[in-house]
Amino acid sequence: MLRFTALTTAQNRKPVAVPENGKRSELFAQNVFNEEAMRQLMTRDAFAAVMNAIHNGTKIDRRVADQVATAMRDWAISKGATHYTHWFQPLTGGTAEKHDAFFEPVTRDRAIERFGGGQLVQQESDASSFPNGGIRNTFEARGYTAWDPSSPPFVYGTVLCIPTIFIAYTGEALDNKTPLLKALSVIDQAATEVARYFDKNVSKVTTTLGCEQEYFLIDKALANTRPDLMITGRTLLGHQAAKGQQLDDHYLGAIPSRVLAFMRDLEQECLLLGIPVKTRHNEVAPNQFELAPIFEEANLAVDQNSLLMDVMRKVAERHDFVILFHEKPFAGVNGSGKHNNWSLVTDTGVNLLAPSKTPIKNLQFLTFFICTIKAVCEYEPLLRASVASATNDYRLGANEAPPAIVSVFIGEQLTQVLDALEVSSDNLSPEEKTELKLNVVGKIPDLFLDTTDRNRTSPFAFTGNKFEFRAVGSKANCGKPTMVLSTIVAQQLTEFKKAVDALIEGGKKKEDAIFKVLRRYIKESKKIRFEGDGYSKEWEEEAARRGLSNHKTTPEALKENISEKAVALFESTGVLSKVELLARYEIGLEEYVKTVQIESRVLGDIARNHVVPTAVRYQNTLIENVKGLKEIFGDSYQEVAAEQMELIRHISEHIKVIHSQVEAMVEARKHANHLPDFEAKADAYCNEVKPFFEIIRYHCDKLELMVDDELWTLTKYRELFFN
Ligand code: ADP
Ligand code: MG
Repeated sequence: MLRFTALTTAQNRKPVAVPENGKRSELFAQNVFNEEAMRQLMTRDAFAAVMNAIHNGTKIDRRVADQVATAMRDWAISKGATHYTHWFQPLTGGTAEKHDAFFEPVTRDRAIERFGGGQLVQQESDASSFPNGGIRNTFEARGYTAWDPSSPPFVYGTVLCIPTIFIAYTGEALDNKTPLLKALSVIDQAATEVARYFDKNVSKVTTTLGCEQEYFLIDKALANTRPDLMITGRTLLGHQAAKGQQLDDHYLGAIPSRVLAFMRDLEQECLLLGIPVKTRHNEVAPNQFELAPIFEEANLAVDQNSLLMDVMRKVAERHDFVILFHEKPFAGVNGSGKHNNWSLVTDTGVNLLAPSKTPIKNLQFLTFFICTIKAVCEYEPLLRASVASATNDYRLGANEAPPAIVSVFIGEQLTQVLDALEVSSDNLSPEEKTELKLNVVGKIPDLFLDTTDRNRTSPFAFTGNKFEFRAVGSKANCGKPTMVLSTIVAQQLTEFKKAVDALIEGGKKKEDAIFKVLRRYIKESKKIRFEGDGYSKEWEEEAARRGLSNHKTTPEALKENISEKAVALFESTGVLSKVELLARYEIGLEEYVKTVQIESRVLGDIARNHVVPTAVRYQNTLIENVKGLKEIFGDSYQEVAAEQMELIRHISEHIKVIHSQVEAMVEARKHANHLPDFEAKADAYCNEVKPFFEIIRYHCDKLELMVDDELWTLTKYRELFFN
């Protein structure tokens, strides 16, 4: 039998075994305890109970849990696992795990491999060091992780990983998964009810998600010379390379062989873990790449994206690369995002955001399409907030990324459809109705062909059969934006259903009632639709006139999460309580402060310990040179040494500014640190500390241009990019 060895340690340089026949499909999900594995290894009763839990959310009793655990343990050990862990996603945005061995001594000289239902289903976790926003005081440091049967366990390296939710002793969610699962359930209910207007056979609607992941690869040895890259994940200074991305020669270019080796290795690891990676290509910026998996049920897609990032880090290490997930690692070249492709599918197999050939199905499409647009219009500040982070702030609103304004792009044809629908009369004659269906609704299938006018500058674009939320940061956990998007659309669908039902009760025919409400929604959500250049100054002005929010910084954006409207939305849908929202707000701001604080410290250190000493050394060489010239040329040296003396003066000027600005930045930090409440602190870091970054960087970068290349200690952009 062919044994597949998954990644064990970062030092393990052995690539994964490939099946002899070269078929990668045979690797797929080998290390996942999925339905197939369960069916084979569990009794029929236990299997049925787990399926019921997965599909209908029923509880698994202790006896069944024991059976599942035994099967899981034996399966995992056969895959080389020695340990197990509850794998969860705390609010740090990453993943967390604590390994426990299966091994357990039963007498002084005998041991067994133990793993029962108790260990599978729920674990107590000392989680006092995870962000909790004050929900738990440290003396009550208990948190629980609980098995999420809807995401399959997997063996990664030598560890069986069991996806879990993470909640406080008092019941509040401390992770991204818990509210996501709630939101997915809320939208399932709301969308199912609406879908049943069109097809009574629908009994479940699943949210689908495909996350395109962008990243940079940098040679490890070179990256190691840059404390800023290693500590903060981005370059805090560095003059732009003479050649960046201006020739557009990197996008979809030939993948360098060293990178290809990394990608191949990565893809094999992913396939073993059941991550259906499909597409790979060069991105716009030098050394920037993208990986896209095939979309999945949203909860699984979110888990797999988190896992993917972890695998990517490890495989990169094995290939002597450092992988950068930061949204803006380099000034002057594109940043990285994570496009979240989002849609809804029924258990009858219909993508609710795919236009179809029959008019009635198209009315269904229009319903979900328009309700999504309306939801985005109603709650755009929450979508913006869902992607806010200190690191994404460098990308959103910068001129090659989606702006901090959320708008919806739908393309020319659908705009025409909505425009026609909007002005159509309320009381249609039968002929008009037919015409409407034919001319408006019937036109939509052509859209499938219309992928040419995709607007890359839109943060929220309809792309044929799904919406693509492009403002998500490359480093982010997709759970947050997916949770928000699903919640707001669920809320909108619920309101839609109420409005339509009221009209039906008032005597309107179902179809007319639906049309009437949709027409109103089209009017009410017009301001969110924008087809032009989202990066332009004009749009910013226009958006302000339309009353759309434009929060450029995280502290500003996050405030929206605790607005009255937000609290009402999350509480009424049951996705997050007010306590949880407030805790998350605090955690978000705390994380913001820490990130800016670390950057500020690192920048100060580099400026003082690398840049200034190097500049002084070079200046001394110049001074020696001038002295020498004076010896040779006597009084006329001033003319001969004019350039050097000019340089000496410039260097001194830059050093002086760097010193004074670093000093002032440290003072600003001290002031911010002493502010008592976290909101004020975040504001101070944002508006009083961060502005120094640009100034200090400017002068450091000027020195980089002046100083002898041989002396410069930091690897330059051009060297980082082209190696
Ligand atoms: P691009 O946006 O780069 O042109 P694609 O059209 O291939 O790329 O799709 C990008 C991502 O969208 C992929 O991860 C794909 O699986 C995902 N996707 C496609 N259809 C759906 C859907 N119905 N729901 C969610 N994601 C989808
Ligand atoms: Mg895309």
